[in-house]
Amino acid sequence: MPAFDFDLFVIGGGSGGVRAARMAAQRGAKVAVAEVAAMGGTCVNVGCIPKKLYSYAAHFAESFEESHGFGWKGEAPTLDWELLRTNRAREISRLNGIYVQLLETPGVTIVRGWARLNDAHTIAVDNQTFTAKNILIATGGKPVVPDIPGREHVVTSNEMFDLDPFPRRLLVVGGGYIACEFASIFNGLGSQVTLIHRRDKLLTGFDEDVRSFIASEMAKTGVNLQLGQEVAGIDKTTDGLLVHLKNTGQGSDASFVVDTVLYATGRSPNTAELGLEAAGVALGKAGAIEVNSQYQTSVPHIYAVGDVTARVQLTPVALGEAMVVVDALFGPATGKAARQMSYDFIPTAVFTHPNIGTVGYSETAAREKFGKVTVFRSDFKALKHTLSGSTERTLMKLVVEDATDRVVGLHMVGPDAGEVVQGFAVAMKAGATKAIFDSTIGIHPTAAEEFVTMREPVKG
Ligand code: FAD
Ligand code: NDP
Repeated sequence: MPAFDFDLFVIGGGSGGVRAARMAAQRGAKVAVAEVAAMGGTCVNVGCIPKKLYSYAAHFAESFEESHGFGWKGEAPTLDWELLRTNRAREISRLNGIYVQLLETPGVTIVRGWARLNDAHTIAVDNQTFTAKNILIATGGKPVVPDIPGREHVVTSNEMFDLDPFPRRLLVVGGGYIACEFASIFNGLGSQVTLIHRRDKLLTGFDEDVRSFIASEMAKTGVNLQLGQEVAGIDKTTDGLLVHLKNTGQGSDASFVVDTVLYATGRSPNTAELGLEAAGVALGKAGAIEVNSQYQTSVPHIYAVGDVTARVQLTPVALGEAMVVVDALFGPATGKAARQMSYDFIPTAVFTHPNIGTVGYSETAAREKFGKVTVFRSDFKALKHTLSGSTERTLMKLVVEDATDRVVGLHMVGPDAGEVVQGFAVAMKAGATKAIFDSTIGIHPTAAEEFVTMREPVKG
């Protein structure tokens, strides 16, 4: 009789958990995954995928407008919000089914319900218990809303996809990924959007030029940006939600009414009610599970990956971390070396309108890390907008380490920036120098060719 029910028990069927469970099962391990909600986790159900679908929906608004300059005539169609919601929900349930299939095909046991650790080898899910040689915690995170008066009236990104009715007037609080993306998306879909952020610039940690540029582009699209502002409280009235501001400086109203208030003020790791203490798993700062470079917690056979470790909260990072765990426990795929994660040069996109794509270091971070750097920057009107009538501009920026000529930062604000930057990220992982960028032939006419034709530095 085997000593344990499973070789690996995964808690959480999100990005990291599903990847680890199915890859471990494909390597011949006996695996179970417990999931309390819909399979696929945040990314599939209330994150990346529905968000990107709504972003596509929102882009049509500007496309209709821009088409006039290209000779298209006629009234812009109107949005059927209910139809969009229905179509999105159908696609997400199709994906939920695919995730179940991805697990069932290699033989993963799916356990439905809330899992908690009774001890370092025993997992309870409702009234069932299971034992496992190894455990992976991949429980993700949840939105955090600060304790303001009227907190009960606000929603988080989880609720935004199914709002009913459509919010004609939307307030977004926060200046990070979610705040900027949802402000852009709902603005495109037809809401009157105000974004309030406590700092003077959006997107802390991003390149300073990107931060200024995206604010100016978002404002041009009609998002009312109130920077250096905070919400004092929210009252429910018959006309909607009355929002009171703290800093009522020039140009800002002391209070105003909206239909919906979205708080996008960060996320915290899901570590409560997991029995971590019973199992001896230690938490680090901000309640995240602490792990070493192999994702082992303070209990070596209990691993943790993804948002619950509150490192880099991105789906491809959770997937990469899951693969490291699987390779370490069950060996790498035939003919391959065991995977390791590197947190350098992780590309990322913010799906604002226009998009932001970035890989490597901001200019400020590069100066701190590498000392002398040279900066190349281009800010231009894309060819499409010579006829579209849009005033949108595109920003591209390269940061080059002087000592090695290596391109250590690449930033773009412009259409499809995520698509453009993904390819450049490969070159940068490979250590591409500015000389290699310069010797690369451009694809004409594209915006992306600008990255290989920037010759004159703007700053040493
Ligand atoms: P999750 O995917 O959150 O999965 C955790 C799972 O564990 C959940 O399904 C949960 O129900 C389950 N669970 C929790 N506790 C228990 C328990 N005790 N028992 C059983 N089940 C449990 N990342 C990108 O790379 N690109 C994007 O465009 C992007 N957009 C985003 C948009 C939004 C609005 C949000 C919120 C996030 C977005 N992210 C994006 C981040 C991305 O979704 C996360 O980084 C990713 O989902 C993390 O994966 P995970 O496996 O750690 O956790
Ligand atoms: P972020 O950490 O990106 O942003 C949180 C924002 O809220 C910051 O602007 C922060 O301000 C502000 N904030 C925090 N606390 C308060 C407070 N008490 N009052 C007012 N403002 C506050 O978190 P998000 O929730 O936007 O997203 C979580 C993570 O999910 C992201 O970091 C990202 O990793 C991932 N994600 C990825 C996406 C993508 O890949 N496209 C899309 C969406 C999410 P300050 O800057 O001052 O700290």
